[in-house]
Amino acid sequence: MTKKTLDRYRDVVGDKIVDEIYNSASSLSEKHIVHINSTYQGGGVAEILETLVLLMNDAGVNTGWRLLHGSPDFFRVTKKFHNALQGDDIRLSRMKKRVYEMGNENNSVFLHLDHDAVIVHDTQPLSLIKFERKAQPWIWRCHIDISTPNKEIWAYLKEFILKYDAMVVSMEEYKRDLPIKQEVIMPAIDPLSPKNQEISTSKISKYLSKFGIEQDKPIISQVSRFDKWKDPEGVIRAYELARKDVDCRLVLIGSIASDDPEGQSMYDRLSKRIEKKRDIILISHESDILVNAIQRASSLVLQKSIKEGFGLTMSEALWKGTPVIGGNVGGIRTQVIEGINGYLVNNVEECADRIVKLLKDPKLANEMGKKGKEHVRENFLVTRHLLDWFEFLKQYLAK
Ligand code: UDP
Repeated sequence: MTKKTLDRYRDVVGDKIVDEIYNSASSLSEKHIVHINSTYQGGGVAEILETLVLLMNDAGVNTGWRLLHGSPDFFRVTKKFHNALQGDDIRLSRMKKRVYEMGNENNSVFLHLDHDAVIVHDTQPLSLIKFERKAQPWIWRCHIDISTPNKEIWAYLKEFILKYDAMVVSMEEYKRDLPIKQEVIMPAIDPLSPKNQEISTSKISKYLSKFGIEQDKPIISQVSRFDKWKDPEGVIRAYELARKDVDCRLVLIGSIASDDPEGQSMYDRLSKRIEKKRDIILISHESDILVNAIQRASSLVLQKSIKEGFGLTMSEALWKGTPVIGGNVGGIRTQVIEGINGYLVNNVEECADRIVKLLKDPKLANEMGKKGKEHVRENFLVTRHLLDWFEFLKQYLAK
């Protein structure tokens, strides 16, 4: 496989932006940066880092990637924190705080963070800062929607956030009333990764049949972690309603990330729910090419989330020329332009209605998909993301 270099992106975004990235990175050369998160696979953060870290290095900035180790108890607690930050209730016991802080304290012993800047992703490693001798800028990169958190969890986690030099969020509306610097950097997709690169129709068919997905009728799909915020049950209900008007097949692909202990029970619940339904296919197999194939083979792609920090799957589908239907929340709203490249929906009925509309009008769907691809090219490719990060880091590290 060819090494991931920035030069390979010239054909996709043009020379100007690639040159701009090299230029921006030049004042950060010799700097040593580290990203810390809690999983190498499953979910948006891992997806983003996989490309970002390689390209930061290729641009000449020494960039490491460390994983936070955690016990099942630790990740059960951090998932509860994640849910509470998105608005759920929580019983914030002394025990939960202890499990959380002890997990981070243990990691701090062997992380040896002597870098020029530390970028911490999401809640799991957030409290590391309490146990480190902070000798460099620390940035908290929050990927979720924290606009309406549970008050108790916010008060608790805020104490850690305040120790950081800055907080980076995905949307303007996620900024909070905090005395530290806050920056908006929107995530982005990698157009050359196995998940997003061009693949032939024969490869698409090969992958679909390998996973038992027939192409005899239109396919609609949602690709997401098995998580209540992604509303897979709402997707099934919308599909069942739409199906009364138009024949189609629903594919739900979801991974079970190692830092998400709720995935398995959601998967089990869905499996039971669709037991005897031949036209709903549930897949929990981690495969980038399968995701690529399904997003291309689908007549439309759904992301019917009820909370969504960003929702990379929308840009992934649009980049492939597939129109989308997304929940009218969070980062989905910057990617989906209502009626232009897809639809934003507020409930199951609206979702069903838009599914029917797009399936009955393939010409409209096709036009929307084309517009979607250009919207992603302009705004949501990794090259823009990289440049945003370099420009941001320069405020702290430029020579
Ligand atoms: N994803 C995947 N396989 C799956 C489920 C999800 O590859 O079975 C990927 C998906 O393609 C996307 C990322 O995980 O790249 C999910 O990112 P998103 O921002 O949509 O949601 P998050 O998981 O961060 O909440």
